[in-house]
Amino acid sequence: MAAFEGAEACRATATGMAAVTAALMGQVRAGDHVVAAQALFGSCRYVVEEHLPRYGVTSTLVDGTDLAAWHAAVTPRTKVFFLESPSNPTLEVIDIAAVAALAREVGATLVVDNVFATPLFQRPLQLGADCVVYSATKHIDGQGRCLGGLILASQAFIETHVQTFLRQTGPAISPFNAWVMLKALETLPLRVRQQAHNAAIVAEWLAGRPGLSRVIFPGAKNHPQAEIIARQMTGPSTLVAFEADGGKEAAFRFLNGLKLIRISNNLGDAKSLIVHPATTTHQRFSPEIRASMGISEGLIRLSVGLEHADDLVADLERALAGV
Ligand SMILES: *Cc1c(COP(=O)(O)O)cnc(C)c1O
Repeated sequence: MAAFEGAEACRATATGMAAVTAALMGQVRAGDHVVAAQALFGSCRYVVEEHLPRYGVTSTLVDGTDLAAWHAAVTPRTKVFFLESPSNPTLEVIDIAAVAALAREVGATLVVDNVFATPLFQRPLQLGADCVVYSATKHIDGQGRCLGGLILASQAFIETHVQTFLRQTGPAISPFNAWVMLKALETLPLRVRQQAHNAAIVAEWLAGRPGLSRVIFPGAKNHPQAEIIARQMTGPSTLVAFEADGGKEAAFRFLNGLKLIRISNNLGDAKSLIVHPATTTHQRFSPEIRASMGISEGLIRLSVGLEHADDLVADLERALAGV
């Protein structure tokens, strides 16, 4: 993974959340402050918003796309910036180079959760980030078998912030899971490239459908941050998000009408997986907070797999007709 990412050092963990937690907790102590983009995977947001403050580490969540908001949130005790780009599930994209430059200016480090881009399409370290974390449970395994996580950074960063924390607190990956992940790395570029190709076909088809709106795909020209994507990503993502016009009820009818695409909150898998974030990955948030994260009651997140794109479109078409 270090070779793939262009990092000096890498450590593997039991899960993606173990990687996120270690990368953050290894750097801070009581009194420190963390600034994070608000559009985060539910568990990442829990760690920043609720877990760290229990130990006296305060945090501020900002609109990650607004550089002035990052700037305004900085305090003399700000030690770490944290973001996901593209974010889960609304595929919001943040200018990593700009946030990294600001982090450097104020003496903070930048940790990027790169799950949605994969190392194939985005290399945050080359954009100025200090640390990259992955849930290897997603594209890296890619076949729904094992949990795993990764922390990538310079040798000095790993030695200073990560190594002792991991050794003494024990979120280690099991040797068997590490072996499975290593086998999976042999096919990661092939899988991700084909899944992204399928995702582009599916996104384009979804974009024209009555009953659906707000189709979000990082490879689409109308993505709100298309200009940043062109600068910092070498490919889109394997994920597509869209909204069912009839809210939760229509979204459920749509999901239940699918035969090929499976309902699951995993992603990056060889099988296409679909989820309703408001009642699963982001269910613990109030409707107001969900709305601030762009997660409406009708929002659907589709992780596109390796099936034939024609079969995926046929499945989506049948399900949509049922709504
Ligand atoms: C799934 C996910 C995680 C957590 O990974 P686990 O391996 O499930 O612990 C973290 N960040 C993002 C963006 C994810 O999608």
